[in-house]
Amino acid sequence: MNYDLPISNLLGVGPKMAEKLERLGIETIRDLLFYYPRTYDDFTNPVPIKSLRIDDEKIIKAKIIKISEARTNRRWMSLIKAKLADETGEIEAVWFNQSFLLNVLKEGSEFLFLGKVHWDFKNKKKNFTVTSYEKEAKILPVYGETEGLTSKFLRKLIEPLLEKFSIVDYLPDEIKKEQSLIDLASAVKNIHFPATNDQMHAARRRIAFDELFFIALKMQEAKKELSVSRAPKIKFDENILKNFVNDLPYKLTNAQRKTAWEIVQDLENSRPMNRLLEGDVGSGKTVVAAMAVLTTVKAGFQAVWLAPTTILANQHYQNVSKLLKDIKVGIWTAGSKLADFKNDDLIIGTHALVQKGVNFDRLALIIVDEQHRFGVKQRAFLKEGAFKKNDTVPHFLSMTATPIPRTLALAFYGDLDLSIINEMPAGRQKVITKIVPPKERNQAYDFIKNQVEAGRQVFVICPLIDEKVSSDRLLDVDRKSAVKEYEKLSKKIFPQFKVGLLHGKMKVSEKDEVMQKFKNKKIDILVSTAVVEVGIDIPNATVMMIEDAERFGLAQLHQFRGRVGRGKDQSYCLIFSESWSDSTKKRLKAMITCDNGFDLAEIDLDLRGPGEFTGFCQSGLPDLKMASLSDRIMIEKAKVAAENVVKKGIENYPKLLEKFKEFAITKHLE
Ligand code: ADP
Ligand code: MG
Repeated sequence: MNYDLPISNLLGVGPKMAEKLERLGIETIRDLLFYYPRTYDDFTNPVPIKSLRIDDEKIIKAKIIKISEARTNRRWMSLIKAKLADETGEIEAVWFNQSFLLNVLKEGSEFLFLGKVHWDFKNKKKNFTVTSYEKEAKILPVYGETEGLTSKFLRKLIEPLLEKFSIVDYLPDEIKKEQSLIDLASAVKNIHFPATNDQMHAARRRIAFDELFFIALKMQEAKKELSVSRAPKIKFDENILKNFVNDLPYKLTNAQRKTAWEIVQDLENSRPMNRLLEGDVGSGKTVVAAMAVLTTVKAGFQAVWLAPTTILANQHYQNVSKLLKDIKVGIWTAGSKLADFKNDDLIIGTHALVQKGVNFDRLALIIVDEQHRFGVKQRAFLKEGAFKKNDTVPHFLSMTATPIPRTLALAFYGDLDLSIINEMPAGRQKVITKIVPPKERNQAYDFIKNQVEAGRQVFVICPLIDEKVSSDRLLDVDRKSAVKEYEKLSKKIFPQFKVGLLHGKMKVSEKDEVMQKFKNKKIDILVSTAVVEVGIDIPNATVMMIEDAERFGLAQLHQFRGRVGRGKDQSYCLIFSESWSDSTKKRLKAMITCDNGFDLAEIDLDLRGPGEFTGFCQSGLPDLKMASLSDRIMIEKAKVAAENVVKKGIENYPKLLEKFKEFAITKHLE
């Protein structure tokens, strides 16, 4: 079978279905085989009825005591009710519009039922909304779904393919043996249809290892390559830096001094700097980077400073121009024409600048702000692509406020040196963080009203723009979207105030306009999606209200919180969530007890499920489908294995080399 054929070659996949599959990123048969389950419905492991709690989504094994069709108030709806029982208790199950079930689920027979527990207000007892049932105990894959495309359908497509499936295993036997990994063909089969939990885990482990291994391999190769490149030597002038520091309206923290020192030392070297400056939100990375720029420019070179969004590029332009008064600063964003930067000392822009192949004659330093949002592809391009001149590459400094736990940073940015700003400027106020229960929403609005009346400004963050993305089965909660909240707040709750809206689908010019208005206090309350996450500086904003907070990672929530508390007034972070699972509770409570981004990142890493480290996963690294970033041990193992391969020379492993080349192209690492 040719796995690279378009998906429409499969029986049962017409043009409509192919379109839906495409929406999930499935274009070829191969894509389908590697479309791994999100989770499983484990019908081998039912729970006792007695243990069911409201909102649980569980599987029970129960006998049908009685089943009947009931009338509903609304005539068009049929309601099937069944009394289910196991030896621990009874529960009433309900189905809507599925009359045919009367012929299948006979009284006295036993089935496994997957469903969700609700509270039946009328009868004051629990009931069970069944979503699927099985006769046999088996483990069924649950895939990420889209409208009109169910896991059930995907199972039917994938299962027969696996019968005939064969694949080259590229991983060297020695690694498989060392790490006790199963072969690839079994892994792919068992990841879809494991017979046992052990099989499922072994399959996930193998696939997870591969994901981490290839990333680690890429890092090790990059490091090897860079170690033979050359960069301009930039001499630093201690007096210039001293004067600069003395002119600042504040005293640098020790951490700022130390990291600035590490950076200017690197610049003097002919080996290109490749450094990551990590520091919590508000720790003052900008001024440290500005010192690197100053050093570079005074030595006669140019620097480029890149930001992930136009808003941030503009903000940097304003701030950095003020900070570095006597150097020429140019700005380039997606909207601007391609200008000639020959006479600028520093060019600030969005990463789109990278693709323009602008010619810089004297470029010696590239700074990338909010590195975790910046694709690895762009990073590679910066280092090796258009900016390479006469065999020299610029020095490279990336900055991030996403506190990446050290093990992860080493494994994933293994080609970078680390500088960490681990202290905050003195006298920073603490933002008061509160988790607001749904019933206190109105009090929160009153509080916001008082703040705005006192002249302050407010952020309201929502996870969605406008569409309803419901990949979570059964969880048909109406999630907060920025557009809807904007409507509600501007028309109903705060008609007397100026409410603004900001989201990623707006035009660049519109976004800038809104941000400028917010800065100039022409907007009191800004409803926004996560686009405000990084870097935005509005000292007059004192309230950060976050809707559906469980949808964000802790590091990201901490970023949001860092948007307030930047001025002299006491600031507040109000966290809302409609979901109160134990893990959500634990995570969100950490926001109250902890205000250090690095610690929060560690907590998130421990508490969140596989591949869920938000912010980090968007870093432009290939999607981790199976690997868990909380699996520090496997990350370390993958790194060691990759180091060994690079040491021995990857060309000694032809199958691996071929796969690696393919990976490097398809995963956009270069
Ligand atoms: P981030 O690390 O999040 O990029 P910024 O560089 O934007 O932080 O700095 C946040 C604010 O702190 C800025 O207004 C900056 O002027 C100020 N700042 C930076 N360093 C110090 C310091 N040592 N003392 C007091 N304020 C500082
Ligand atoms: Mg910043």
